[in-house]
Amino acid sequence: MKRILIVEDEKNIADVERDYLEIEGLSVTVENNGRKGLTRAEEEDFDLIILDIMLPDMDGFEICRTIRKTKDTPIIIVSARTEIIDKVRGLGFGADDYISKPFDPSELVARVKAHLAKYERLKGKSGENSMEICYKDLRIQPLSRRIFYREEEVFLTAKEFDLLYFLASNPNRVFAKDAIFKKVWGMDSFGDAGTVVVHLTHIREKIPMDYIETVRGVGYRFTMTDE
Ligand code: CA
Repeated sequence: MKRILIVEDEKNIADVERDYLEIEGLSVTVENNGRKGLTRAEEEDFDLIILDIMLPDMDGFEICRTIRKTKDTPIIIVSARTEIIDKVRGLGFGADDYISKPFDPSELVARVKAHLAKYERLKGKSGENSMEICYKDLRIQPLSRRIFYREEEVFLTAKEFDLLYFLASNPNRVFAKDAIFKKVWGMDSFGDAGTVVVHLTHIREKIPMDYIETVRGVGYRFTMTDE
């Protein structure tokens, strides 16, 4: 369930916002002062934040800026004053959208849903980055199955890729040739562990730096150190 944080000091407005969003199946948390709102936004992971600007203890701009230092959660600013909306529009406070009070609640719902969907897409794209393995000039992208060495693409065959990715995603562990063969080629494949050696040789020819260490008499490992 998507979680929405509303920071709003006017109870009746917060109630209307909450009601409309809950009908849409969203989970809503309301904080009626700025500091508590900010703390919540920083400590918990919301999918979207609806932020009032005129709060008794802390202004919404400051909250918005502070959240942006650490999070990219979509923020919709709500304000009754048009000059504030102009300010939001003109300056980079990091808000994603703004709505002026009084507003039509269904308009708010529509904007919330649009931003949730957009954020979801952005997170989806960054999914590749989060699975990426980067180590000393080498970058492996498992979803698009691409490999870069010093930002230049290296073209491996499918099995070469699988082999390198398998070892790189289990760093510092030694795998025997047989184990690697079973993992990468599958239990029922024909061939033998010698295939692994041949493929490793090809990988070493294609990537200028040797990332795979041969552990004599035992097998191979992709060594990753902190330096
Ligand atoms: Ca207010």
